[in-house]
Amino acid sequence: MSEEVKEKKGFFKRLKEGLSKTRNNIAESFFNLFKATEIDEDFYDSLEETLVMSDMGYETTEKIIDDLKAIVKEQKIKEADACRDIVVNIIRDQMSVDESAYDFEDKKTVILVIGVNGVGKTTSIGKLAAQYKSQGKKVLMAAADTFRAAAIDQLKTWSNRAGVEIIAQNEGADPSAVVYDAVAAAKARNTDILLIDTAGRLHNKKNLMDELAKMRRIISREYPEANVESLIVLDGTTGQNALEQARQFSSVTEINGIIITKLDGTAKGGIAIAIQSELNVPVKYIGIGEKIEDLQRFNPSNYVTALFADFDVKSDIEMIIDKDIEKIEPDDDLFDI
Ligand code: GDP
Ligand code: MG
Repeated sequence: MSEEVKEKKGFFKRLKEGLSKTRNNIAESFFNLFKATEIDEDFYDSLEETLVMSDMGYETTEKIIDDLKAIVKEQKIKEADACRDIVVNIIRDQMSVDESAYDFEDKKTVILVIGVNGVGKTTSIGKLAAQYKSQGKKVLMAAADTFRAAAIDQLKTWSNRAGVEIIAQNEGADPSAVVYDAVAAAKARNTDILLIDTAGRLHNKKNLMDELAKMRRIISREYPEANVESLIVLDGTTGQNALEQARQFSSVTEINGIIITKLDGTAKGGIAIAIQSELNVPVKYIGIGEKIEDLQRFNPSNYVTALFADFDVKSDIEMIIDKDIEKIEPDDDLFDI
């Protein structure tokens, strides 16, 4: 098996393990659903219930069911069993991520990480820093959450763990001053990616949103050649609230992408699907654990497979690995549930 295939399988295995709570929550009812004898209103109602139970949201669920009804009618499908793959494919189609979503990773970029308290901003920065570094990039972190000394220390711990440098000042320092220093250092050191940790803020707190705007102004004034990527972090365990937070933040500040964390800690991982299909902002990364390697690019196809595929069925095996990898060994333990 090539290294590339091994790596992809490793990623998928971690994803499947990370999402096991949601899978356990919905898998049984999802599979039983398709044993129905008839495709009638009861069948559609049960499907709706199952999808909503995973926190996929009413709007997304309705879209899925409408699409399914249209296909059933058009293709004159009579067996409920045939609907399973159709549903999985409809969900996949709803949430494609444009490949250009990750172009920033290959440019000189300043990543501003924002969101409310406790969602996983600092942790995600640590994980991202380690990944970018392992790709051979020059990475720098900035501790612009200066509210508490503990927040600065926490980022320092991650900088050690990831083996990247950090720019920090003392507790209570002006976050914009930290950003100013960090940008100067990034320019002087020819940094590829500067990750800025910020204090937890609510979209409706004017002073905090003004502070964010000031940080952005400093970056564009002092480092106009850099690309600015503003990522909002959402806690996946907060379900529909996370969706609402993303909506509110994007109405007051520019957001280029979303990181959904703690998907390992929820039985309602369908929220990632709702967020991806209901907002015009792409989900770029997902957190599926507390370890440094537990952050992945969001791959909707793998995500849906990890949640819904029946790993006992041979046909699903082909869907698991990206299209570019064609042959996989059938004896691989990846497919053990
Ligand atoms: P911040 O206030 O937004 O900076 O949040 P932190 O980065 O301090 O994270 C808050 C808590 O969430 C910490 O205990 C993290 O270990 C935990 N956390 C962050 N991401 C994940 C994740 O993907 N999975 C799990 N299980 N815990 C996470
Ligand atoms: Mg923090």
